[in-house]
Amino acid sequence: MLDKSRLRIAMQKSGRLSTDTQQLLEHCGIKINLQQQRLLAFAENMPIDIMRVRDDDIPGLVMDGVVDLGIIGENVLEEELLNRRAQGEDPHYYMLRRLDFGGCRLSLALPLDEPFTGPECLRGKRIATSYPHLLKQYLDKLGVNFKSCLLNGSVEVAPRAGLADAICDLVSTGATLEANGLREVEVIYRSKACLIQSNIELPPAKQALIDKLMVRIQGVIQARESKYIMLHAPTERLDEIVALLPGAERPTILPLAGDQHRVAMHMVSSETLFWETMENLKALGASSILVLPIEKMME
Ligand code: ATP
Ligand code: MG
Repeated sequence: MLDKSRLRIAMQKSGRLSTDTQQLLEHCGIKINLQQQRLLAFAENMPIDIMRVRDDDIPGLVMDGVVDLGIIGENVLEEELLNRRAQGEDPHYYMLRRLDFGGCRLSLALPLDEPFTGPECLRGKRIATSYPHLLKQYLDKLGVNFKSCLLNGSVEVAPRAGLADAICDLVSTGATLEANGLREVEVIYRSKACLIQSNIELPPAKQALIDKLMVRIQGVIQARESKYIMLHAPTERLDEIVALLPGAERPTILPLAGDQHRVAMHMVSSETLFWETMENLKALGASSILVLPIEKMME
């Protein structure tokens, strides 16, 4: 029996979002043992239960208030939203934030030898997809009628199998399309993973836990995007050196023992340092340049 006082988070059980999601939760300090093949995992150190399901089920679980939070691709979320609206429902949820993984695009693709001058070429054509509502929303806006062929997997083989003239599928590198003799002709939706919350009002303790997690998630994502930089610099070129460093407005300056003309600089940079920038720093007289990863941050 589920304990309703514990925060329930739905995540993909196995697939493209599961490793990143698990890592994010772990970096937020949630200790969970996800090894077993179980639907539910319980956090050992916080009142949190993790529900592990197919990604397609996550938006509905959040919209129906079965779980409090869900981590899901925006593509699946938007498709479920349109699906429910098409059935006359008025679904609600809160978008808490976009995450820094699960990036992909939903694109139209055609066989290599098919000409394409614009989406109107698809008028009257049969298009295979797992995202019929997103596709219809896109082509309806352009006034292009088409026939939809719903496939829940192996969409990319549909043209070769004679099931469809074109496809509308998720792409990240394009390698799968290429391997199936297809070319991407139009991006219809760009997606990332996101964190959503049910719009059912929660007891204050649960809401406070979500607020705490949000600060931690912000810290984890910000830390992943930042670097700690240390270097030695000639005192008279400090301004020029700071100007080269992205997002490092207020460096810590420390004296170097026995050296009147040089100082040590420490700073958090909002981006990593490219080799070119390091070479430019060196040309300004900087030395001992170290770029270190940051594990956690709180502002
Ligand atoms: P499930 O068994 O949970 O239903 P699935 O096969 O539907 O899994 P995955 O292929 O694991 O789903 O993809 C999950 C999500 O990962 C996608 O909905 C999308 O948001 C994101 N994603 C990122 N890159 C890609 C990609 N190249 N192809 C497909 N999905 C991607
Ligand atoms: Mg799925």
